[in-house]
Amino acid sequence: MASGKLNISCLEAVNFIDRKHTSGLNIREKLALRIHKGICKYCLRYDRQQEWINEALNRLNDQNVDTSELEDLKKKIKEAILHN
Ligand SMILES: [Zn+2]
Repeated sequence: MASGKLNISCLEAVNFIDRKHTSGLNIREKLALRIHKGICKYCLRYDRQQEWINEALNRLNDQNVDTSELEDLKKKIKEAILHN
């Protein structure tokens, strides 16, 4: 069996969540993230917030609205988690 741990830190989980919305995750990464979200309410919340923000960004991009505030919000949420 290939190496790769399923027990990941919050930092790794946050990076996975970011990548999920850009380049995507492989099966093992998805599984590790799912396990982590089952035990960590901060990353579970981060994932939900990212989904929400990305949806809002997509909608606003269609309307040529300034999205820099939402981008800032994303950064703040991420920093809050990593300093937990
Ligand atoms: Zn976590």
